[in-house]
Amino acid sequence: MTLSENPDRTRALLELLFHVSRELATALDLRTVLQRVLYGALQNVGGERCSIVVLDDSGKAVDATIVYGSEVHEHTTQQMRETMERGLAGWVIQNRKGVYIPDTAKDARWLMRPDDTDRIGSKSAICVPLLAREKLVGVLTLVHTTPNAFSIEQFDLMQAIADQAGIAVLNARLYTESQRQARVMTALAEGAAAMNASLRMDEVYQRILIQTMQALQVETVALGIVEDDKIVFRAAAGRNESAIRGKSIPLDRGVVGTVTREGRGVVVADVRLEENFDEADRLEGVEMRAMVIAPIQTQGRVIGILEAINPLAGAFDPDALLVMTGIGGLAGTSIQNAQLFERLQAAHKRYRDLFEESIDPIVITDWEGRILEANRQASLLSGYTREELQTMSIDQLHEVHWSKTGMEFELLRGDRMISYESTLHKSDETHIPAEVHARRVEFDSTDSIQWILRDITERKELDNLREDLTSMIYHDLRSPLANIISSLDVIATLVPEEERATVLSILKIAENSTDRIQRLISSLLDVSRLESGQPVADQTAVDTLALVRKTLEDVEPALRGRKQTLVEKLPEALPPIWVDEDMARRVLINLIENSSKYSPSESTVEVGARAEGEWVHFWVKDQGSGIPPSEQDHIFDKFTRIRGKGKIGGLGIGLAFCRLAVQGHGGRIWVESDTGKGSTFHFTFPVATEEQQASNVE
Ligand code: ADP
Repeated sequence: MTLSENPDRTRALLELLFHVSRELATALDLRTVLQRVLYGALQNVGGERCSIVVLDDSGKAVDATIVYGSEVHEHTTQQMRETMERGLAGWVIQNRKGVYIPDTAKDARWLMRPDDTDRIGSKSAICVPLLAREKLVGVLTLVHTTPNAFSIEQFDLMQAIADQAGIAVLNARLYTESQRQARVMTALAEGAAAMNASLRMDEVYQRILIQTMQALQVETVALGIVEDDKIVFRAAAGRNESAIRGKSIPLDRGVVGTVTREGRGVVVADVRLEENFDEADRLEGVEMRAMVIAPIQTQGRVIGILEAINPLAGAFDPDALLVMTGIGGLAGTSIQNAQLFERLQAAHKRYRDLFEESIDPIVITDWEGRILEANRQASLLSGYTREELQTMSIDQLHEVHWSKTGMEFELLRGDRMISYESTLHKSDETHIPAEVHARRVEFDSTDSIQWILRDITERKELDNLREDLTSMIYHDLRSPLANIISSLDVIATLVPEEERATVLSILKIAENSTDRIQRLISSLLDVSRLESGQPVADQTAVDTLALVRKTLEDVEPALRGRKQTLVEKLPEALPPIWVDEDMARRVLINLIENSSKYSPSESTVEVGARAEGEWVHFWVKDQGSGIPPSEQDHIFDKFTRIRGKGKIGGLGIGLAFCRLAVQGHGGRIWVESDTGKGSTFHFTFPVATEEQQASNVE
């Protein structure tokens, strides 16, 4: 007979279920719900012992309660595991259906529990699954000490109670979980807010400790940082904090070492039972009973550990590890932020120190050109105080070359340095020449422009002096020199025949020297003429081969004197060139003399030329000291001499003249060279056209 065939019993059953479900619905705490289910089953179905095991989503037993008569016991995890793996409950979980065993002695599924020994013998048992929304949330078992104690009706009733209880247990379990999660989340959220409220390292440490203390409720909290191959406790709070600070633990030892190496937190419920606990873990002066240790991590790297020692309540809450791991993660970010901030601060300070102590005058402006800062040298140079400068704009201080910077400094937006020569306005209304280097910088965490303003008064004065000297040389030396030359010519004619040979050789020496002085003076004159933009006036069609050969003849004795060999690389024929003959000759002489001057004795100087379309390309190649690439752009500037070649005399005017002369003819001049590997100077002069050649003849 089934229950439904008896209307009275059906009503009684419905009332019972209604009662059970109402009872269950009013409770949300898992333990209360479990107890109510168990009492309900014992009272309404009968039996002496009733137990319930709660499963989580993965089927793992998370809670269990057993009731003997009116006594409540909680299962240990070990007991739960056995029942689940091998016992009757295990069978029910696997098969997801209830079972009634009238005689446990005759059923292999019945597992004898150690505390059953006094009641050996046949029992009867009902075991049913708790299902909620198709999900298995637990197992309910009812036991009677005598066999055949239950009827099929009672089995059905148990099934019905289990169905009611399933939902209630699931709700209670979810509620407990959400409560726990909410607690953890709150602790972490509060922790995150508090820890990140500061960027000062000490304060960040302190905040991490306070949050851990509050969340875990322990006697002591310690914070260790990985430094080389050990953990050094940098901060501690609570009991014995001062004894802990500064202590260190090698990374290859103890629980602390393992947590750091593996990046996984642990709960040590009892120090005496923990195999991995090492003497190194013992913090002197702190009596250690239990602890939770979690790694402090940032970007997947363990940078330290957080250790909570001795829970005030005697044992750790089940969430302790979760909370500690969470705090460890947050702490990692906070500590890293603080570290980065400290480093940034240090970099700023370093920059500020450099800025203040720089021997260069520096001002910092915003992108509107307003002066934000100025160093001591900038004040000294300009005569304005720092405060005065801070009310000025950069274009009040110097003539900004807007074409270089851009009207809104947009050309400085890239990270390139922009340099130019300009005029600086001083507080006393005088002006001085200045070299300006502007560049984008980060100053006190602000995107700014740095302006270095170098006083170049002395350099300018020196340049002027050289210019004055140059003009003096050609005005005051040219005419006396012309007199000397013509006098020498006259002397040559006056010498009697018999002494002529000796005297002429002496006169030749004088002539060579006066030639050189004359060439130098002519070159100086040409430089200043060509620089001021005057064109080359005296162009004629010149026989190229004859010009080169004559020049080589002239310089050959000087090279021979230095045991140097002149090699000519000339083709059979070359077109005539359209040049100022004297200038072209001086260009060639200059380059050959340089090659000789900057080469060792017994080396070779090669001079060559070839026609290249409308140009004749000349070169002078030596085996001398060479010119480093960094200098190659500058050597054609006036007064440029390469440092380190101090012993060889010169004015630095030769190449400047060559460039101006060649370019004045529309040609190009350049050098190919490397230090120690010799140099080759190249230049081109234009080929004379048919008409030019014809005009020459006229
Ligand atoms: P200087 O009167 O000093 O020779 P120049 O204008 O002729 O002046 O040359 C400029 C600088 O270029 C020289 O001081 C020298 O350092 C370098 N230089 C010129 N020619 C050569 C060369 N053939 N080999 C090495 N260095 C050279």
